[in-house]
Amino acid sequence: MAEFDIKNIGLKVGLEIHQQLDTKKKLFCDCTPIEDDEFSRKFSRRLRAAKSELGKIDPAALFESTKSKTIIYYANPKSSCLVEEDEEPPHGLDIDAKNLALLISSALESKIFSEIHVMRKTVIDGSNTTGFQRTMLVAQGGHIEVDGKKVGVQSICLEEDAGKLIKDEGNHRFFSLDRLGVPLVEIALDPVEGDPKFVKNIALTLGRLLRVTKRVMRGIGTIRQDVNVSIEGGGVIEVKGVQQLDQLEKIIEFEAKRQHGLKIISEKINQTKFKEIDRKEDVFDITEIMKECNSKIIKKSIERQDKIFGIRIKKLKGIFGFEPYSEIRLGKEIGQLVRFFGIGGVFHSDELPDYGIENIDIKRVTEKLDIQNEDAFLIIAGEKISVGFAIDSIINRIKLAKDGPPAETRAATQKGDTIFLRPRPGASRMYPETDIPTVKVSDKELTEARSNIPKSWEESIKELEDKYQINNQLAEQIFDSEYFGVFEKICSKKQNSPNFVVSILCSTITNLERQGLDSDLLNNEQIMNTFELLEQEKINKESIEIIFEQIMSKKTDSVLQALENASMTQLSENELDKVLDEIIQKNMEKIQQEQMHALSGLMGIAMREVRGKASGKMINQKLKEKIQKFLN
Ligand SMILES: [Zn+2]
Repeated sequence: MAEFDIKNIGLKVGLEIHQQLDTKKKLFCDCTPIEDDEFSRKFSRRLRAAKSELGKIDPAALFESTKSKTIIYYANPKSSCLVEEDEEPPHGLDIDAKNLALLISSALESKIFSEIHVMRKTVIDGSNTTGFQRTMLVAQGGHIEVDGKKVGVQSICLEEDAGKLIKDEGNHRFFSLDRLGVPLVEIALDPVEGDPKFVKNIALTLGRLLRVTKRVMRGIGTIRQDVNVSIEGGGVIEVKGVQQLDQLEKIIEFEAKRQHGLKIISEKINQTKFKEIDRKEDVFDITEIMKECNSKIIKKSIERQDKIFGIRIKKLKGIFGFEPYSEIRLGKEIGQLVRFFGIGGVFHSDELPDYGIENIDIKRVTEKLDIQNEDAFLIIAGEKISVGFAIDSIINRIKLAKDGPPAETRAATQKGDTIFLRPRPGASRMYPETDIPTVKVSDKELTEARSNIPKSWEESIKELEDKYQINNQLAEQIFDSEYFGVFEKICSKKQNSPNFVVSILCSTITNLERQGLDSDLLNNEQIMNTFELLEQEKINKESIEIIFEQIMSKKTDSVLQALENASMTQLSENELDKVLDEIIQKNMEKIQQEQMHALSGLMGIAMREVRGKASGKMINQKLKEKIQKFLN
């Protein structure tokens, strides 16, 4: 396997950031942008086939256009109205969102247009009830400074967020409407020469520039990054849906390696005598001869009366299994590609015999396909129509493999790699929105935006340090966190120590997440309620973690119930004395040996036993007294 050197492959990365704005209304109606999980209304629409979007020749696009999908929308009158349902024309542009877009554009020194035209951008996946997304080009040009370098801004758009995908099952796709129409600022940056760490810093700096306005939404899903990654001599690959910065760096590294691996594979293909695959001569129906095969996948296919095909690929023996870098193979690319057509079973000759396909099957296939020494073959099984499209797509993909990584759209995974999503769409179709008049930007609005540019990130952090008397690290942590708003509210009351509040909102919640608990289950209201109980001295500091743990592990969604579940009603002083005396009794030997040093060990035991039911401070004080008394 080759050594991968990311610096010498001509890596280029373009970043596109989508940030939800924190406005009182949605972009084109009066609904409040709040997230819902209860939906009292449900309706459905048939999705129109859209051939044009992906280009006419592409087999994947043709395949998509044959599928007919029903889209089910869930709505709640608190977060959506007839505008989201496309039963009422859009209202005027939300002035607040407009001003914020002007403010952000000014902060990036981008040139703002004096007239903003509302456009419709075709959307084919059903995430919009109208079949299009409204978008406005607000500004062009400008820059952001990162690590002492200027990174150019290409464009700044104000647009509607899409509906939220709930699930995708067969011919049905489900969206909720609470997110549809939430104002979004889209900032596209010039591509930079690739250093994944630098790109991560760009995203971080841009995210911070947005957050200092204090008018953007925070938390997972409220800021999303798309990246366009390419290497020298390859197509541009668009990776969608990166939600975390650490993931961003990993994804760029993975994509760079994958693309360079495909380039090495292309060079190897070009050393062979491979020409093209002939759709008529090289594809064989092998359903009959596979009937005896012991592979589970093949057997299932035969039961379902699927078709099984063999594809002959002359002169490409060894190419599908060739792995220039770990896990980067043409065979794997083909495997991901056919999943787009709903096909799970494709095998290439370099990996056989395996998966229940035995030498006898291979012999039958090589005879039927007339496979010569240097030839490769694929076996693919699936429902007749899908398999036909999939074969066209495979033939196309192998042809493109001669030229290195092809342009396509991929999805980011949590793990930090990428998987094939769809072929790269052509330039998206835009046309004017006729329901909304052109939006003018007045000189007064421009001046106001310029004079309201917020302080820099550094200044904002300094201000936080002074205001709450916390150190630089904590100030950065809380200001980057989704809990910043809650933090400010909790600390507006004098009795809460900002240091303690940050440690709960950042470290404690993160630690619980690392144990596999879900922080999405814990909302701001529950956090506020918990701190109120602390202020009223109904609970002690140690109980906060226990309450959060109950909520984040889905045991309850009520703070009071969490308290009760953990039976954290406070111990009386007598009860506490009793527990501690017992601990002293059991550990007399240890105390005699270690004297006062035994305190920390006993403290640990006591904290475990009375977890949350008494304050650590009081336990410590009492234990100290009791040990001293015992020793005397
Ligand atoms: Zn609405």
